[in-house]
This record gives sequence, C-alpha cells and structure tokens, in this order.
Amino acid sequence: MISSITGTTALFGVIGNPISHSYSPIMHNAAFQNLGLNAVYVPLEVPLDKVSEALVGLHTVHFIGVNVTIPFKEIIVPYIGKLSKRATIVGSVNTLHWTENRYHGYNTDGEGFKRSLDEDLAFNLEGAHVVIIGAGGAAKAVATECAMGGVKSITLAGRNEKKLTELAYRIQQFFPTIRLDIIGPDLTPLSSYVKKADLLVNATPVGMKPGDSTPIPADWLHSKLSFIDLIYNPSVTPLLAAAKDRGCPCTNGMTMLIAQGAASFKIWLNVMPPLAVMRTAIENHLNRVHKN
Ligand code: NAP
Repeated sequence: MISSITGTTALFGVIGNPISHSYSPIMHNAAFQNLGLNAVYVPLEVPLDKVSEALVGLHTVHFIGVNVTIPFKEIIVPYIGKLSKRATIVGSVNTLHWTENRYHGYNTDGEGFKRSLDEDLAFNLEGAHVVIIGAGGAAKAVATECAMGGVKSITLAGRNEKKLTELAYRIQQFFPTIRLDIIGPDLTPLSSYVKKADLLVNATPVGMKPGDSTPIPADWLHSKLSFIDLIYNPSVTPLLAAAKDRGCPCTNGMTMLIAQGAASFKIWLNVMPPLAVMRTAIENHLNRVHKN
C-alpha cells in the first residue's frame, strides 16, 4: 500500500491496452516501498490511436520512467528522442526514461532473458545453437540477446512466415556471421533442429490458456536441451512439464519478468531494486488470484 503520495512523489507507470493485468505496478511499488522511496507506479490504459498524445501528456506531468507494453512497443519508436543499441536492433522499446529534456528508449526484455539463463539455467550463449518458437516482440528481444551473446545459430520457427523472415533479416543485418534458419508454418522439419539444439525458447503464448497443447510435440525434447518458456502464468505450461519429465534444465518466464523490470528500475533510478521483494510481491498476488 502506498501510504503518502504528495506533490513531490516521483511518477512512474506502464502504458498499454489492455493494461489491467500487468504485474509491473505490483513489483515496482513493492520495490519503492521496500527502499523507502517517495515514488508511485501506475497502470495507464492508452487508447490505441493516442500513443503520441499520451507521451506528451506523460512528460507534461513529469513522469520520470514509463514501461511500454502491448500493443505500443513498436509503434511508439518513431516518437522517442533517442534509442539504446538493444532497442534499435530489436526495433521496439519497453522502457522510457525522461532525461536531457527527452524520453530515451530502452528494451530490457533481452537483459531479463539473459539473467534468467544465467541464474536459472547457468546457460552460456557463446557458440550455442538456439531454437526460438514465435516471431513477436518477445522473440525479437530473445533473438537479439542470443545474437549479442555470440550464439552460433538461431532457428526461428512459427506459423507466420512473413514475420519470421523479417526477424531473420533484421538479425542478419546486425549479426551477419550467425547462421539463421526459418521453419514454418509447417513445423515438421523443426524436429531435427531441436535434436541438435542446446537451447529452446517458447516465445508464443501457447500454454497460457487452460486446455492449451504444446507449441511443438513434447517428444522432440531431449535431456541435453535447456528450455525456457517465457510464460510465467501458469508457472508450469504443458511444454515445461514435459521438459521437466525428460530431465531438461528448464525454467519459466518469472525470472525474466522480474529482471526486465529490475533493469528498467536501474535505468530510472540508478539503483538495483530488491529482486526477492519484487518476486514475492508477484507470487503473493498470483496466490491470491488463484485462491479466488
Ligand atoms: P506477440 O508479440 O503477440 O507474439 C506472439 C507470437 O506467438 C507471434 O509470433 C504469434 O504468431 C505466435 N502465436 C500466437 N498464438 C499462437 C498459436 N496459437 N500458435 C502458434 N503461434 C502463436 O507476443 P510477445 O510479446 O512476443 O509474447 C509472447 C509470449 O511471451 C507471451 O506468452 C508473453 O506473456 C511472454 N512474454 C514473457 C515475458 C517475460 O518477461 N517473461 C516478456 C515478454 C513476453 P502470429 O504473429 O502469427 O500471431
């Protein structure tokens, strides 16, 4: 609970549409409170065609830091004063910081992903063969991080060939020595790539809804394959359960979620927030939701 909001309280928030299910306010407000900061973080639903007006409004009322989520991560880019290297490569932003009289844009999803690889899986990207399922915003950030980490090959798989090709082209532009393959919409040939891969990433929402199946057949998994499912709710998707059964080093998207938020927090305040406090706040929230 934020106890004392005043005229000097520092303002932070997340813009998206819809926004009511975002966990960002929970983790950031928990971190502010834990550190005793006079700051508040609010969810802000922006009409789909009003993102540039929202930006002007946010800086007019002195929002220091803003997260950006679906569907604005890419369409906001032309309105941002300056982009970080990662945001430029990914082509989208999830973090804005008001400084030097303009919003600077960052993308911290990749940093969150990297932290999860380090902490949950002790996985080293250097020289690895990676398979990513999906071609949306998360897949872009993950593919960029893998490329920056020095992987040998990236196989992009999914149902939308145009999006896969665009993403492969984008990565190839910045990282011409990495081998890139595209598989889709027919995923049958992916089986042999998964067999040889070191790391598999599910960057689709398949597995979020009750009754969902797996985005690829579970019997393609093998015990030498590390697996990260970017989904964090539910905490165990059908593919993650199958990976656990087969003895794969594996994890869900929770560490990435917290770490991308922590990276935003660090950009805004130059302080590393308490990760354990942020995790507990989200886990308590999820427990409450699942009880009701
Ligand atoms: P997005 O931009 O909407 O992209 C979703 C991708 O999944 C697209 O390639 C889409 O294909 C594909 N897809 C959607 N439904 C599918 C289905 N039924 N079968 C096969 N492919 C399907 O979403 P996103 O932001 O990348 O997010 C993807 C997932 O990652 C979500 O579950 C999200 O919660 C999770 N995520 C987690 C974190 C974290 O911090 N842990 C961060 C970001 C995202 P089309 O292009 O054909 O629609």
